[in-house]
Amino acid sequence: MSPSLPQQVDVAIIGGGIIGISTAWALAKAGLKVAVFEKGVVAGEQSSRNWGWIRSIGRDPAELPLAHRANSLWREIQRQVNVGYRQTGLAYLGENAADQVELQKWLDSARLHPTGARLLTGDAVRKLLAEPSQRPWTSALHSGEDGVAEPHLATAGIAQLAQAAGCQIFEQCAVRGLDIVDGRTAGVITEHGRVGADRVVLAGGAWSRLMCGNTGVFLPQLKVHGSALRTAALPNDLDLAINGKQFTCRPRADGGYTVSRLAASVADVTPDSIRLMRLFLPAWMAQRQNLKIRFGRRFFEELLTPTRFALDRPTPFEKTRILDPGPNVGAVHAALRQLQQAFPAFEGAQVAHAWGGMMDVTPDALPVISAVDAIPGFFIGTGFSGHGFGIGPAAGELLAELVREVVPTVGHHAFRLSRFRASRRDGSPHAGSRRAGTQGAE
Ligand SMILES: Cc1cc2nc3c(=O)[nH]c(=O)nc-3n(C[C@H](O)[C@H](O)[C@H](O)COP(=O)(O)OP(=O)(O)OC[C@H]3O[C@@H](n4cnc5c(N)ncnc54)[C@H](O)[C@@H]3O)c2cc1C
Repeated sequence: MSPSLPQQVDVAIIGGGIIGISTAWALAKAGLKVAVFEKGVVAGEQSSRNWGWIRSIGRDPAELPLAHRANSLWREIQRQVNVGYRQTGLAYLGENAADQVELQKWLDSARLHPTGARLLTGDAVRKLLAEPSQRPWTSALHSGEDGVAEPHLATAGIAQLAQAAGCQIFEQCAVRGLDIVDGRTAGVITEHGRVGADRVVLAGGAWSRLMCGNTGVFLPQLKVHGSALRTAALPNDLDLAINGKQFTCRPRADGGYTVSRLAASVADVTPDSIRLMRLFLPAWMAQRQNLKIRFGRRFFEELLTPTRFALDRPTPFEKTRILDPGPNVGAVHAALRQLQQAFPAFEGAQVAHAWGGMMDVTPDALPVISAVDAIPGFFIGTGFSGHGFGIGPAAGELLAELVREVVPTVGHHAFRLSRFRASRRDGSPHAGSRRAGTQGAE
């Protein structure tokens, strides 16, 4: 996007997904000189491939202040640029007493935090859905404050705002590594040369662990493959995002629906999953109904990817400009069939496109939004565990506040990188975790 590399900036950001771009926007608004370096194209990976849910319900309570703040930011963004944001509301549906207990449990866990969520039962559920259903939905955890945005517009839209605030964005420009002088950050080494920066933010999505490893920083992160499809436009009345367990669906700005299911997620066994097994095992067990574990080609691809590399020659970041895994076609078509069985209005739905994306996950399914204590000037925003799109603008704002050393708008204790330190020493689950398990990638 921007022509030639600057010699020096205040903050260099690695990664042009929603986290890197939102951080850049917040920093540029605060008057800092910022440059984003993206190995492929802005939002080429997860940030344009997600379901487009902006949800508070179902989140770990630690993320609720971020989700709340994100809702305000999405409204602010949509006022300035069209990112397809709409406060449609979002609901998790239940069809028996056990489901209702589970939904209520989440509501109880969230009671200390800002959320507009409530539990609906009986007629209120039917009214909410606005489409006749074949399934006996008896309860719904609903938040009218949640909504949707269009992933193919969102990060590009925020990038426009960041550029208008003075940020430079360099696409097809991989960062090979950090320039560290006397133990602190002095800049980044890109494939096109060095750029000086006292502060560097790594927002590299699924690539963050590789960058951290080569920089001597321990980041427990694995990849999980997710999929979705979109239908052609339909004249349906369902106008909120819903999770009906066997399917998920949300209305799109083009009149179609994005459809998937939690069980479309696949975790490939890789050398890293063996290395990090003890840390991730509780999460895998908690998610075993939704997460398929698979051994195949990715094991050997990652085995052959160097984890240590020199910065004066091409690195793995340049080899894969855009991580573009195909979709799990069987799983998303099964989700559509379930949706059609539940809501006859979807019977004639035509599949317009299906796609896959690689999510980056941490052992406790919470992101890392943190300074790196061992390397002054180095910050990380990653590990959004399949639900970073909705909170992306607020996570970027928080990261920018940490970089600027101002009092953060929301608490960040749960997101510190140092929570994993204990786990590295003794191999046990990390000290800072309140629970092991994922929140379920969207
Ligand atoms: C199928 C699917 C469905 C999802 N659904 C939802 C949803 O509905 N709601 C929700 O909230 N979240 C959802 N998510 C998760 C969400 O998309 C992610 O959490 C979020 O986009 C992460 O943003 P990011 O900026 O951290 O990563 P990314 O968008 O992956 O961006 C990271 C960028 O860094 C670049 N990069 C990496 N290394 C380097 C380097 N060395 N040099 C230069 N550039 C580099 C990469 O090329 C990439 O573009 C979903 C994800 C998937 C895959």
